[in-house]
Amino acid sequence: MPEGPEVECTRLALSPLIGKRILSIKFTKNSQKYQKYKNKQQEINGFKGQKLIKIERKGKFLIWVFEIEKVILNHLGMSGKWILLTSDKQELPSHAKVFLNMEDLPHAVFDDTRNFGQFRVFNNYNSVSEYRPIKKMGIDGLANKFPIEEFLEKLNKKNYSEREIGAVLLDQKLVAGMGNIYKSESLALAEIKPMRLVKELSENEREFLGICISKTLHKALKSMGSTFQAFRTPDGQEGKAQNWHQVYGKEGSFCSKCSNKITKIIQNGRSTFFCSKCQK
Ligand SMILES: [Zn+2]
Repeated sequence: MPEGPEVECTRLALSPLIGKRILSIKFTKNSQKYQKYKNKQQEINGFKGQKLIKIERKGKFLIWVFEIEKVILNHLGMSGKWILLTSDKQELPSHAKVFLNMEDLPHAVFDDTRNFGQFRVFNNYNSVSEYRPIKKMGIDGLANKFPIEEFLEKLNKKNYSEREIGAVLLDQKLVAGMGNIYKSESLALAEIKPMRLVKELSENEREFLGICISKTLHKALKSMGSTFQAFRTPDGQEGKAQNWHQVYGKEGSFCSKCSNKITKIIQNGRSTFFCSKCQK
């Protein structure tokens, strides 16, 4: 699943679209089977001729802001990706959901194989800010200056204390943009076992974890994210972060620090990887 760094890479690669007007925007037939693509074509037609002002990222969401009040909320879901077609002859992706034609640019296509993505119209910026997953969102893990005080304050909340840190880290109300890959990697860097209860973590460990989260997410962004199955930037590049992963997807391989074998467990239904020797 694309996490904060992959979504930010997507946002940056879509920057050629900024300042351009929409010539046409269409939902594919296939998209209409899924609730989060169900806008009325009539409503989406309202964007025709409009200039795209900016694309903002909030956690794993992209908010498309135009000259008009209406905005579009876009989530890549499990496997969604934007593709900037380089020629009309290029083969179209088989799970295309949205076609976007902008002035002076090749077509942009939103392809979503597993159909968990979304592309929805909201009446205005305020209404999208009130959308629960956005309103309740925690700190931005990719903030230039990681808000460590706010992180510690949020982690201190009562409802986290009896829970395992590996599970808590996936809560978007704590660190927005964090996902399953960088959860394992941040804990490996911080040398903390994912099964530790939050209440067992010392102040120093909590603070160091915050630093490691920020480091891991920024490093991933610089590497253009991680590509396991689906992720590509809109200009077709694969991420390279998987080349430096310490634990994620490395079950049974040797830890690069201590040569112990990496362990995989299922935590809250999600795969979690760690080194039982390096991580305390
Ligand atoms: Zn190790």
